[in-house]
Amino acid sequence: MIQTYLKEINNKETNPILVSLKLYAEENNVPIITDEGIHFIKQIIEISNAKKILEIGTAIGYSAIQMALSGCHVTTIERDEKMIELANKNIENAKLSDKINVIYSDALELDEHELGIFDLIFIDAAKSQSINFFNKYKSCLKSKGIIITDNLLFHGLVVEEIKERNLRQLTRKIDNFNHFVVSEEEFSTYIYGIGDGMSLSIKRM
Ligand code: SAH
Ligand code: MG
Repeated sequence: MIQTYLKEINNKETNPILVSLKLYAEENNVPIITDEGIHFIKQIIEISNAKKILEIGTAIGYSAIQMALSGCHVTTIERDEKMIELANKNIENAKLSDKINVIYSDALELDEHELGIFDLIFIDAAKSQSINFFNKYKSCLKSKGIIITDNLLFHGLVVEEIKERNLRQLTRKIDNFNHFVVSEEEFSTYIYGIGDGMSLSIKRM
């Protein structure tokens, strides 16, 4: 399989903190970003010279730590108390407390104007709310800034006929986001099949 081939040929993660976070996430079903997804983001960071990042959805802090290790300052928002505890512990462990600001809040209730302006926004929280996150936080983005949104293919379920009602509603919302994001005129956007499906949107002005 192509995925296996790519996994074998690409360089493996060697940072012991990141390796152990990946293991923890796998064992505890925490949906952290794929290797392919985080490499995509890290290379976008490098090419675009992004320094200030806003992340919606911290979980255990894996992607925030990865982005901070790429030389960025990361503000990350999480609403789950248990995740906040784990993220803070992991970030301290990685000695990145001065590079990552974890905000314990529902991202839909926070006053976004207090956060400042960012070079890049990574939306990776409740999949049903992506349009709301996008519309709320786009004002925190600099001109020519980038918004990356994750999980747009939802393990491929977005193209399946789903019988179960809640799941069908969720996949419809993801499909709605996908149509919304490619037609948002303030941004130039393309959806990629990277990881679990990611959109890259560049603010035109
Ligand atoms: N970005 C992480 C994974 C995030 S998983 C990584 O790749 O390492 C998604 C997280 O978003 C979950 O921990 C969930 O609690 C959080 N979340 C979902 N909806 C949210 C909201 N409205 N506000 C803040 N956090 C939210
Ligand atoms: Mg994700």
